[in-house]
Amino acid sequence: MSETNRAALFFEPGQPFEIREFPVPEPRDGGITLRITRTNICGSELHIWRGDGRFGRVKTPQGRIMGHEATGIVHALGDGVHTDWKGAPLAEGDRVAFQYFDPCGTCRNCTRSMSEACPNSFAFAAGGLDEWPYTRGTFCDYRYLRPGQAIFKVPDNVTDTMVVSANCALAQVIKGLDRVEVTLGDRVVIQGCGGLGVYACAIAKERGAETVIAIDAIPERLALARAMGADETINIAEVPDTKERIGIVKALTDGHGADVVAELVGSADVINEGLRMLAWGGRYLEIGVFFTGTTFACDPGGLTARNQRIEAVGSYDAASLERAVSFLSRRSDDLPLDEVVVDYALEDIDQAFIDQDAGRVRRTSLVMT
Ligand SMILES: [Zn+2]
Ligand SMILES: [Zn+2]
Repeated sequence: MSETNRAALFFEPGQPFEIREFPVPEPRDGGITLRITRTNICGSELHIWRGDGRFGRVKTPQGRIMGHEATGIVHALGDGVHTDWKGAPLAEGDRVAFQYFDPCGTCRNCTRSMSEACPNSFAFAAGGLDEWPYTRGTFCDYRYLRPGQAIFKVPDNVTDTMVVSANCALAQVIKGLDRVEVTLGDRVVIQGCGGLGVYACAIAKERGAETVIAIDAIPERLALARAMGADETINIAEVPDTKERIGIVKALTDGHGADVVAELVGSADVINEGLRMLAWGGRYLEIGVFFTGTTFACDPGGLTARNQRIEAVGSYDAASLERAVSFLSRRSDDLPLDEVVVDYALEDIDQAFIDQDAGRVRRTSLVMT
């Protein structure tokens, strides 16, 4: 266990990370200091690292601490904190899953039960590295959690490897498939089988989908998608023609197309193809592209004529995180939930980004020791 608070600083695309040490943040009333045990590189960080979209122009000469998909143990409880968000007693040393952003709880959206759309969720990220609580990301040893950030104890049968993706990829997918109301008998297409995509296969089946069709270009990813519940797979490398892929989806859905198509690639380039795979009355779910600055072509008349809709989901509520942890516990024995991430040391963060960018691994996980 590290006694100091190491953090990997990012400066700009193309520059290596730098490991520096910071103070361990003291918890304030109602908050918690967490010791990070594992943190993944999420697709969103990959966009920043590559400089995709508007990120190509963002430079932080003072350095920034990225990272949000993580799990850890309670290092110190602030005054007044005795339980997690389900009321279970909470003590130092407990393993927890936490909401990485901080919905304000009082804005118009929060008070109308739409905390996932709180415009103040990321206000905590403001402030210099020399100001408490110093390390606001998770590519570091310690991270402070504010009173508004949901936190849930992790059951013993859920390993750190399983739970590390719960607070972004898994909770996000749960919220997204909830929003587009995947239900009994639906036919679902999953575009992209990285971390988000393989979870989406499992959750779509959990919600009663009749057929889940997973699309990717890498055979190992498609194999995991199948193990997580996909009924059919389409390998883009073997079927490079868009029209042909759309034809396969139509053939697998009695000519109708899919009730739900989810974009989990992280590229606007695949949206048009996904929309063309939709059945009449179908729902398109956008999650993958979280950065602004790219566009896609869309014929609104086609959506109207076929009664289709597009939904975009970029955060989640506390209930989705709770359901993510319960899902992992319920399915820990019969799904390969331990196989979603590949381990790297914090010192190897540059290589981890390079490997994930090259598609050599689905999702890299930095193990903090
Ligand atoms: Zn993420
Ligand atoms: Zn709010």
